[in-house]
Amino acid sequence: MSDFSYSVDADGVATITWDVPGKSMNVMSQAGFVQLDGMVDAALADPAVKGVIITSGKKDFAGGMDLNVIARMKDEGGADPARAVFEGVMSIHRILRKIELAGMDRKTQTGGKPFVAALPGTAMGIGLELPLACHRIIAADNPGARIGLPEIMVGIFPGAGGTTRLVRKLGAMAAAPFLLEGKTNEPKKAMAAGIIDEVVPADRLMARAKEWVLAAKDADLVKVWDRKDYKMPGGTPYHPAGFMTFLGASVMVHANTHGVYPAAKALLSAIYEGALVPFDTALRIEARWFTHVLMNPSSGAMIRSLFLNKEALEKGANRPAVADEKVAKLGVLGAGMMGAGIAYVSASAGIEVVLIDATQEAADRGKAHSADLLDKGMKRGAVTAEKKAEVLGRITATTDYAALAGCDLILEAVFEDPAVKAEVTARAEAVIPQTAIFATNTSTLPIGELAKASMRPGQFIGIHFFSPVDRMMLVEIIKGKATGDRAVAKALDYVRQIRKTPIVVNDARFFYANRCIIPYVNEGMRMVGEGVAPALIENAAKLVGMPLGPLQLVDETALDLGAKIARATKAAMGDAYPDSAVDDILFWMVDQGRIGRKARAGFYAYDETGKRLGLWEGLAQKFPRALKQPELGEVQHRLLLAQVLEAVRALEAGVLTDIREGDVGAILGWGFAPWSGGPFSWLDMIGAARAVEICDGLTSRHGRRFEAPGLLRDMAATGQTFYGRFASRPKAA
Ligand code: NAD
Repeated sequence: MSDFSYSVDADGVATITWDVPGKSMNVMSQAGFVQLDGMVDAALADPAVKGVIITSGKKDFAGGMDLNVIARMKDEGGADPARAVFEGVMSIHRILRKIELAGMDRKTQTGGKPFVAALPGTAMGIGLELPLACHRIIAADNPGARIGLPEIMVGIFPGAGGTTRLVRKLGAMAAAPFLLEGKTNEPKKAMAAGIIDEVVPADRLMARAKEWVLAAKDADLVKVWDRKDYKMPGGTPYHPAGFMTFLGASVMVHANTHGVYPAAKALLSAIYEGALVPFDTALRIEARWFTHVLMNPSSGAMIRSLFLNKEALEKGANRPAVADEKVAKLGVLGAGMMGAGIAYVSASAGIEVVLIDATQEAADRGKAHSADLLDKGMKRGAVTAEKKAEVLGRITATTDYAALAGCDLILEAVFEDPAVKAEVTARAEAVIPQTAIFATNTSTLPIGELAKASMRPGQFIGIHFFSPVDRMMLVEIIKGKATGDRAVAKALDYVRQIRKTPIVVNDARFFYANRCIIPYVNEGMRMVGEGVAPALIENAAKLVGMPLGPLQLVDETALDLGAKIARATKAAMGDAYPDSAVDDILFWMVDQGRIGRKARAGFYAYDETGKRLGLWEGLAQKFPRALKQPELGEVQHRLLLAQVLEAVRALEAGVLTDIREGDVGAILGWGFAPWSGGPFSWLDMIGAARAVEICDGLTSRHGRRFEAPGLLRDMAATGQTFYGRFASRPKAA
């Protein structure tokens, strides 16, 4: 079966319809390119064909390249993978350039056949690069559609001519947000930005496309960049205005990526160098930089974690095989920060919500959080008044547990206190159906312990959200010893309904994400105590790709919360507690009232609006800076290994059972250096032997917390990688 079909009507207009069998969204494969190429040749060769419409048989045009293909291109390149990738990319350029040149006589620029792209809906990645090679892009007026080139989000850049064409169409400055930030737009905005040419009512799309094809003149088929008098909008790099653009773009890219994302830098190089040469040479340059990015292990790791594996987890890669468990009615216990956020994302996904708190006032306040977020959405134009009314209409704020009757899932988010949690568990279970699943959003209490308050521990599970709930994409599902398959399926189906990404872990102290992030923050504070300059700590973290330095992170999450967790951990662990040196700093800061941003005072100084002013200078008086400061690399290794070794220990202990979840969860849960693809991908990049060597050095200088886990040593000895050892069998345990 073919991904494209071809027909010619009585007026001589050929239509190439993209409709990949068995998929809801078109994606481009290698076979697809071959089919498209054949149809383009057929249309150009057939004297009866006057012009061509390229469109889609689905509600959208296309979502992009099949990223599996990109991931494989390199693997299948044999002895010279870079050449294989480069040649693969150049063959795509040839097809798109053939469309663009329309079979015309290049000297006289006459005699070509018009190609028009008719986009019924979303057109992203190659789904926009192909239209950009056509002579006109007409889109249906479909405000839900997204038009753009989001490749940068998965560590690559538009490499099928999208970079070169968009820059030549809009100028480097205007194209920058779409290329460098992957910004996508609905059709009308895409037209206003100059990316597409025309937006028409959906039922006029094909008629208008045909009209355009039949009316097109020779001059309509010559792209501006193929004209002799072409000048790049905003100027090329040696033009005074262009110079300013490129200078600014370099600074912006570096400020945002700290040099750790190869794709952003390569993209900028392709734009800069491409701007200095004729179009066809620019395409070759784009192909070389694209190859360079694909050959960097970072792009493969990012595609694997942020696209392929993220999607696999969202589609239920680790879902037990039980019947559909979609949630119809959700009860949320506790309408505080988390409960209110959970109510909002659930009601937005169409789920009926009963939001309970101890007082009506607190319950109403929780519901008001949804109203606030919806109002903000309305201001942005993303939410209509009807949508707001609909979402709010789904939330019942009450103190009455009887309202929970008929709930098939309960999410408990009351105070982090086992007695309070036990009480609300019993009250809810007295009302809800026998079959309902009960989930807790606890961040620190063992699921197995909390399940003791339940009449049905097999139906008791952890569903751990991150704050702020509406923005954080990861949800950690925690299985207690007694948790049954139906509870896991329910949690996964629920997370899918609210369109977030789940990982499923086993019950252990701090589960997975917090287990890894606490040592990161602690390592930062420990270094302060040792006299390492706080600016060195923070910058070392950013230069290795962490979104926030450890000191800024602990300011955001609050030091008093950290102190509370530290006390509870110490009580639970006794003599084995490893973090006394950290507590000296943490408790001293809390004693000073410097509990973080919420108090406008922490490791950073803040103004009264909460804006960070810089690192707090008073810190140096209590913890004077050491005369000899460590090397940047040493600080980075300490900060990275603090997290990574915890991830390996979580795998070793069976808390994590799938390294894909470990990698995806790390990036989405706490922002672990996304360029690396996650802690396991990072270890695979440097190799287990090198990782053990780093651990041995850090252990000798800083203590046993850096000792390499047995699993890592074993892999170093046998030359294995995590994805090599566990990928064919994603379940590690
Ligand atoms: P919060 O203090 O903002 O909200 C708790 C709410 O529970 C309050 O509105 C309170 O009135 C209500 N409540 C207390 N006792 C109750 C009772 N008996 N019946 C009904 N309602 C009652 O706390 P939060 O930050 O929303 O945290 C809630 C839970 O989520 C905790 O278990 C916490 O560990 C967990 N959690 C918090 C975060 C976070 O970043 N804050 C992240 C993940 C998980």
